[in-house]
Formats: sequence, structure tokens, C-alpha cells
Amino acid sequence: MLSQEIFEKRKKQILEDLFDFIKIPSITREKKDVRIAANWIVDRLNETADYVELIETKGNPAIIAEWKPQKKREKPVTVLFYGHFDVQPVEPLDKWISPPFEPEIREGRIYARGVGDNKGQLFANLCAIECVHEAKELGVGVKFVFDGEEETGSPYLDDALKSKSDFFQDVDLVVVSDGPADPTWKPTIEFGARGIMTMRIELESSDTDAHSGNFGGIQPNPIWDLISILKTMRNDTGRCLIEGFYDNVFEPSAKALEAVDNLNRDPEDYKKQLGISYFGGEQDQPIEHRKIFRPTFNIRGIQSGGVRKEAKTIIPKEAVVDLDIRLVPNQKPDEIKHLVLKHLEKLKQKSERMQNVLDRCKISFEAAFYPLFTPFELPWTEILENSVREGFEEDPLKIPLAGGSLPLQPLYEVTKKPIYIIPYAQPDENNHAPNENMMVEWFEKGIKTSIILLQKLGELNK
Ligand SMILES: [Zn+2]
Repeated sequence: MLSQEIFEKRKKQILEDLFDFIKIPSITREKKDVRIAANWIVDRLNETADYVELIETKGNPAIIAEWKPQKKREKPVTVLFYGHFDVQPVEPLDKWISPPFEPEIREGRIYARGVGDNKGQLFANLCAIECVHEAKELGVGVKFVFDGEEETGSPYLDDALKSKSDFFQDVDLVVVSDGPADPTWKPTIEFGARGIMTMRIELESSDTDAHSGNFGGIQPNPIWDLISILKTMRNDTGRCLIEGFYDNVFEPSAKALEAVDNLNRDPEDYKKQLGISYFGGEQDQPIEHRKIFRPTFNIRGIQSGGVRKEAKTIIPKEAVVDLDIRLVPNQKPDEIKHLVLKHLEKLKQKSERMQNVLDRCKISFEAAFYPLFTPFELPWTEILENSVREGFEEDPLKIPLAGGSLPLQPLYEVTKKPIYIIPYAQPDENNHAPNENMMVEWFEKGIKTSIILLQKLGELNK
């Protein structure tokens, strides 16, 4: 029986199995529950895969699996899938219409924490493999990485994959289904993602909050001092002023530029969607380029003193600012960190006062994902496009860089092969938010698409 027919026959069972999977409350920090989800996957894989291994890490386990081609091919292609089975916390719980780990279908959508991000998408790919396998139509080698720690930035994935580097030697391309599709509701192929690094500056300039009358003019104000520092890092037209920040920023190819032109987005729609009347970011860059091709330098939040009901006539003792920097190819987190520190070091030399301020600052850097971009000009582009077109019965959008960041670098490190993201969750999946959901229609079109992709890849020789 053909793979698609097997899928049609198993549809109901597949949904029931998905429900079992998403009922497991595998919130990243709940190690026991994440392990239950890992064991669930291992049991499932053992039914069809030729090789399954659970890899222990310092955190939650990862799993690798392999299906060998069933059809004789001289030099079969190998595709690697990636998905994660840990999920975000559920708070605020009272905003959920149905309990987050008791999946429910309402108006064609499955509601549950983790259904879109990422268990449903992961399961779509797994079910596609199973259908093609059962039909004995597998002409492509298939490998899969299941990550149990994505929602905290996959801190151990790199080591886990590198400890099995032989496993990845024959991989030709990597496919990740995660994140929502484009806001236009068109099926989407993303050719990479912006990276991210976060940074915190904490300034404790005195031992105590002080009366702004009695001590005003003597006690330094840490908010003003942080603002002074921040103003040296970015100007009013949105340009980052840290020396060398843009040095390695990539030049998009003609095809990448064309793909972005073809998105045909009306900036006015963003205004409506976001309720804004003017745009942020680099004012001299086209709107769509600011969102896709350009790095950002964002203040996530500032905390100090009090406002509104908490406002008091004080000079606060401390202030904290959190920043995130979205990176684009070929900016490296470590290099940017170095440039930031160099910038602050230079600032110290400017005046004795700045030196005093910066001496009391604590500066730290956290989560870092590398940016990654796969060129449009590779032969896989057409195969992926055709698979999505047939699976969704609609032309897909090609987006050079996804907005959100994914742990693509560990996958790239062990394969050195092109990576593609094909989201199977619809744009309003509410990932990370209450009432996360995935449309049954998108889930099923995802399975179809992956079946077609496996069939097309199975016809090729390396
Ligand atoms: Zn997520």
C-alpha cells in the first residue's frame, strides 16, 4: 500500500497517539516528566527504527534514531530531522480554557501545551517516516535527533551530538519543523534563523535608596548612569555604535533579496498588527530587511526604583538593564561579546567619572545561538518547495532567516550540511503562551508534506 494511503488509514490512530504524547507534562525543568516523554519516544522508535539510542547529558536526555533505506539505491541520500520534546511552563494557568496537559479539540484545533512547540510538529515528521517505512517505500536514509532541553537553549546538545559524531557523517541535509508559519498563513520554508545573545548590566551605585531631597545632587543615580552607557551603544536612528558590530554582517545574495521582495508585505499591515504608528530599528534600511537581514540591539527591560503606585522621591541604589542582540550571518556571539567589552573598556578611558561608574557595573552574557543561513542556490531548494507545494496545495513562501532563534549550530557543527526549517504549526499557534494550539489540518498537511519529501529524496542518488 502506498505511504499516503497508509496515512489516510491511520489518521485517527495518529491523533490518539499524539494525545498520549502531549499529555506527558514534559516542562523542561521537570526532569522526571521529560524522561517519561523520552521513554515514550524510545518505545515508539523501537517499533520501526533500525537504530535508537538515548544519550545522557548533564540535563535532560537526547535521543538519536536511524532508519536505513528499504529500496536499493546506489548512493542514497540521508536526511536528518530535528525536534524537541520538552515544553514551556504553563503559567498563567488561569488563562487556559482547557487544562494544558488535557488535550482537547475545539474548532479544528488541538489545544495543549507543547502541541505546536514542538511535540506535534516533531510527531508529524515521525509519523511520515513510519508511513513510508510501513509502505516499504523508504529510498532515503533517515536520521532523527530528539532534544529534551530546547526551551532552555539546548545547553548540552552540542556535546551530546559531538559524542556521536560518526552517526552524522553521511547526512546530506537537515530539516527542522518548529515555530509558526508566516503570518500570511502561507506554508513557509525558512533557510536559517537569526542568532541571539543576551547581556545584562547591573549597576549598584550605593548601599541604600536615598531621599531625593536630602541627598539629591550627591548620591549618583544609577538609572541616569545606565542611560549614559546605553546612549553610547546605539544612536537615535537605530544604528548600533559598538565599533566593528556590523563588520561581519553578510550581504544577502540576489536570490535571497528576491525572495524577500516576493514576500510582498505591506508595512501598513505591521502597523495595524502591532498598533504602531512609526517603525523602530535602523531607519536607513528597508522595513523587511530590518526584520530579516539585519542584527538588532534590543533593550529587554530596565528595573530600578518605582513607577506609578510605587513611585517614591528617592534616588534608587541600583539599576539593571537586560539586552538581547539578534545576530545575523556571519556575526559570532563570542566576537560580539568581545566587541561590547572593548567598547566599555574604551568608555572607561573617556573620563574618570565613567571609569567610576563602570567599575561598579557587573556585566554578564547569557544564552547564545549562532545565526545560520543556507544559500538559496542549492538543489534541495526545489525539492523542498515542491514537497511543501504538494503537501499544502499552495505555493510556499521562502524566508531567508526565521525571526526566532533555534539551536541550529550544534546540528551544523556535526553535519556541516544545509539546514532548512519547515514550520507545520499555523501562525497563531500561541507557542509559549496560554491556549497553545495546532490546527489538525496543518498537522495533517505537515505529515503529507514530509511523506512527499521522503519520497522525492528517495528517488535521488548522491
Ligand atoms: Zn519554544
